Amino acid sequence: MNFDYTDEQEAFRREIREWYEENLPDGWIDGERDLPDDEDEREQFLREWQRKLHEGGWAAIHWPEEYGGRDASLMQQLIYQQEKARVNPPPERSEIGVDLVGPAIEGFGTEEQKERYLPKILSGEELWCIGYSEPDVGSDLASLQCKAVDEGDHFRINGQKIWTTHAHKADWCYMFTRTDNSGPKHHGITALIVDMDQEGVTTDRIRQITDEREFNQVYFDDATTPKENVLNEVDEGWEVAMRQLSFERISLSQSLDLERRFDELVEFCKNETRGGTPLVEDPHVREKLAEFDTRIQAAKLTYFRNVSKQMNGDLGAEASFGKLYDSEIAADLHRFRVKLGGPKAALWGDDSPNGAAKDSLANISIRIGGGTSDIQRNIIGERVLGLPKGDQE
Ligand SMILES: Cc1cc2nc3c(=O)[nH]c(=O)nc-3n(C[C@H](O)[C@H](O)[C@H](O)COP(=O)(O)OP(=O)(O)OC[C@H]3O[C@@H](n4cnc5c(N)ncnc54)[C@H](O)[C@@H]3O)c2cc1C
Repeated sequence: MNFDYTDEQEAFRREIREWYEENLPDGWIDGERDLPDDEDEREQFLREWQRKLHEGGWAAIHWPEEYGGRDASLMQQLIYQQEKARVNPPPERSEIGVDLVGPAIEGFGTEEQKERYLPKILSGEELWCIGYSEPDVGSDLASLQCKAVDEGDHFRINGQKIWTTHAHKADWCYMFTRTDNSGPKHHGITALIVDMDQEGVTTDRIRQITDEREFNQVYFDDATTPKENVLNEVDEGWEVAMRQLSFERISLSQSLDLERRFDELVEFCKNETRGGTPLVEDPHVREKLAEFDTRIQAAKLTYFRNVSKQMNGDLGAEASFGKLYDSEIAADLHRFRVKLGGPKAALWGDDSPNGAAKDSLANISIRIGGGTSDIQRNIIGERVLGLPKGDQE
């Protein structure tokens, strides 16, 4: 792979850099990155940021121009990700819609669905959630039970979803339902777009270990959705789900963010002292830092290799390498931060010396969401290395 950037690519990098400098909230680039504590104010702040991104043409550069994107090449997307990792901008309000729902609608939706939903995803006017997990069904999506019954011009939906990120704020749910039980379990699943603002839908927020409440249980009791809200064909939702999960793994690749986190850790080790000596002079700390640096650089190369493969049209199981490897490094890095913080590491919020406690608790989810580490290992074993499946003799 060639690591040099062309003049055109460097110009693209400058464009996004300059846009960030002009548009990020005051002090953000210098590290003042606090979001409002109050939930409503935070929501307002994030809506405003999404609006700016959209107006600047940065809300979804990988989308086609006709739907508000920039038709960005994979190389431009990579540069954009690098710049994003560098400035660590506010979270995107429409992230789920842009990264996960949008590609599914683009790939499998009708022209009417594309025109109806895509522009409002970009502008942040409408928020989405994704309903695939159920109380007994996470990794094994094909076993899902939430039923959608054909009633002529609409489906009637009954069942429960869980861990549904942002469902309490979402306008729409992109969900998977069981429409036929008679065949193999991968068949008979239908992907539906469902209006969250209707009588048959209730959400119940779940308190997380970090004290935040981003997830929900969602109950569908005789909720309905018109037939025109089917994505792909009825009973053919498995194809949609598989394609969407590949996107999720690529978008979850966090090696570029890890590099920034590592730099912050090095800074911390330079400034924090033990017995009058900076942590960075401790041989054990130095050895660990060198080890992290090596692993992160390897993760970055793996990420580049995936991007390179994608450029050749290969969106394959290799994306699982990135997801697995990055999550493992992130978990180790956060554990090490906690260790370095000593007793003070348990402190929360502004009292915390390096934010270690909250970050390390939040990080637990990275190894679960979008397919657990065990599931990534299965995919790598079976689809990349060609090993026999666990249930085969
Ligand atoms: C940050 C985050 C955001 C999420 N957002 C959403 C969302 O918006 N919408 C949504 O629908 N869901 C969401 N989820 C749920 C997520 O998709 C599921 O938690 C995940 O797929 C795992 O499913 P599960 O929790 O049912 O665990 P299970 O599948 O029950 O797994 C339990 C344990 O068994 C292991 N295991 C299971 N099967 C196998 C196997 N075949 N081989 C080896 N080990 C196995 C798993 O690795 C795990 O350790 C989110 C989760 C997180 C953490």
